[in-house]
Amino acid sequence: MELMIIGGGPIGIACGLEAHKAGISYLILEKGPIVNSLYNYPANMQFFSSSERLEIDGIPFISKEAKPKRDEALEYYRRIVTSNQLNINLFEKVTSVRREGEGFTVETDKARYHPGNVVIATGFYDLPNRLGVPGEDLPKVSHYYKDPHYYACRKVAVVGASNSAVDAALECWRKGAEVTMVVRGPEIGQRVKYWVRPDIINRIEEGSIRAFYNSTVTEIREGDIRLQTPEGPRVLPNDFVLALTGYRPNFDFLEAAGISLSEDEKRLPAYNPESMETNVPGLYLAGVICGGMETHKWFIENSREHARLIIADLLRKKQADPTQ
Ligand code: FAD
Repeated sequence: MELMIIGGGPIGIACGLEAHKAGISYLILEKGPIVNSLYNYPANMQFFSSSERLEIDGIPFISKEAKPKRDEALEYYRRIVTSNQLNINLFEKVTSVRREGEGFTVETDKARYHPGNVVIATGFYDLPNRLGVPGEDLPKVSHYYKDPHYYACRKVAVVGASNSAVDAALECWRKGAEVTMVVRGPEIGQRVKYWVRPDIINRIEEGSIRAFYNSTVTEIREGDIRLQTPEGPRVLPNDFVLALTGYRPNFDFLEAAGISLSEDEKRLPAYNPESMETNVPGLYLAGVICGGMETHKWFIENSREHARLIIADLLRKKQADPTQ
């Protein structure tokens, strides 16, 4: 096999489709269902991108509104896999990647493979940025939000002020939860969807949703949470905590594969932006994994072109050395 693609998200699928069209033998390995991250997004989530910007290979993505919903995206990417009969193994998790001899050894929880080249397109949605406070592992705390019904008539603290936190706060409040936002900075994030930001600001200003700015959670307990606010410590009665403070790539996995990361807090992986090849020859990165801690810089919109760059590089190498 010429190419192993790790991760069956939108960008892993784009790489598979590009390899398929170029006649390169490939296999996508995905540890969950097709587009597992999107599957785990909030049930009612609406993308900030319009549907044509989420398209792969110009295949039309038709959505009811300009900005598609999660369900429509699942339908779209699933149909790309099924109608092109892409080679994908689902529910198979890659545990290690090693450069060996002319190619790689890729181990999974089911098998061992020896591809010539590897693309890592594992995204960043698996590892939440933890608060690092006592009580964070209580069952009432979640780093993922799915659906508002569960929180109706309960006291819910939403930690964070980005899109995920704001969507969750508004939905839970609209379904009858008593919502308090705990925001580390002085305001609701500037990158919150432009049509949602005024909504949350108005709900806070009118007092429907309570917000503590310049504040942090210091402890979570069964029946309350403790905050540090500019006015001093506060204790709030609390039933659930949604700690929606972002996610990070699996840096250990990248380092174990031999990829160099920058030593600053950005932890940017080393790769050539023209080919997406890393410092390990034949090992490529694609999708949002490229951004290190700067997860807000890469989206489907601007990383879908990675697929084309990688396959073009493989074809170039093949032309130079037909034995590859
Ligand atoms: P992912 O979609 O995260 O795919 C990675 C895949 O790798 C996953 O399916 C995962 O299960 C799999 N995987 C991980 N580790 C392993 C392993 N060891 N073995 C096998 N498989 C593995 N982007 C936009 O362009 N527009 C938007 O409107 C937008 N809205 C967003 C809203 C939310 C709430 C979030 C969280 C993100 C949003 N993004 C948006 C970002 C976008 O979802 C990501 O850019 C997109 O999912 C990136 O695709 P990807 O294929 O790089 O990574």
